[in-house]
Amino acid sequence: MTTTSIIPSIHLTSVYNLLIDTYGEMHNDPDYDPLGGLVGTILSQHTSDINSDRAYHQIIKTFPTWEEVRDVPTHLVAEAIRSGGLANIKAQRIQDVLNTLTTQQKESGGNKPLTEYLYDEIEKRTPEEAWRYLRTLPGVGPKTAACVMLFDMNRSIMPVDTHVHRVSKRLGLIGPKVNAEQAHTVFAKIAPPDWVYGLHVGLIRHGRQICHAQRPKCGECPLYAQCAYVGSVNPQETGIS
Ligand code: SF4
Repeated sequence: MTTTSIIPSIHLTSVYNLLIDTYGEMHNDPDYDPLGGLVGTILSQHTSDINSDRAYHQIIKTFPTWEEVRDVPTHLVAEAIRSGGLANIKAQRIQDVLNTLTTQQKESGGNKPLTEYLYDEIEKRTPEEAWRYLRTLPGVGPKTAACVMLFDMNRSIMPVDTHVHRVSKRLGLIGPKVNAEQAHTVFAKIAPPDWVYGLHVGLIRHGRQICHAQRPKCGECPLYAQCAYVGSVNPQETGIS
C-alpha cells in the first residue's frame, strides 16, 4: 500500500482547524469489511439510515454469506431488504456486484470468499486506484466508492455529497467549475490523508447547520474569513479548478 505525503495550503489548514474548533475532533471507526460496506451503501441509497440499517441487518441475518446472497433467487434478497425501499432494484444491484466479483476472481484463478477477495483487491492498490476499481463494479458511482474507501477501509478518498460539494466551492477549496465527481480527485491531491475524514464530517455538518444551500447564515459563520463566496479569499488563488 502506498502512502502519500501532502502539504496542505495555508487556506485549507485554516479551514480544517476552524471546522475542528467548531464541530469537534472526528474519529473514523472502520470495520475493514468493504463488501459489507458496499452492500450497506447500496441499501442506504434513497432512504433513511434507520431503514437501511434495518435492511442490512435483515440481509445478513437471512443469509450467512455473500455467496448465498449471490446464489438465491433475486426475489428472496428483495424480501430480506424490503424495509430499505426500492427492494427489487437494490436486490438486483447487490447480486450484480457479487456476480461481477465472482467472475473477476474466477478469471484471475482465485478462490477466496468474496469478502476477502474484495479486501485484497483494494489493499493492493493506491487509494485513488482502488476508488476507480470500485467504480467499475455495476451500479457503483463515485460517492458510493468513496464511502467504502473512507468509512470501511480508512483510505483517504473524500466522499463528495451535495453538502461537501457546495461548501467546498463556497470556501474556495475547489474551483467554481469543479463538479462533484471531479472534486473526489481534487481532494485526493490537496488534503493530507489524515485530514480527509475530519474534513468530510466537518463540511457536512457545516453545510447542514450554517452554510445552507438557500440563505446560508454568513453572519454567524465561523469560517467567514476563509470564504470565497463572501469575498474574504480569492477563489482564483485558493481553489483548484
Ligand atoms: S460565510 Fe456564508 S457562504 Fe461562506 S462558508 Fe460561511 S455560511 Fe457558507
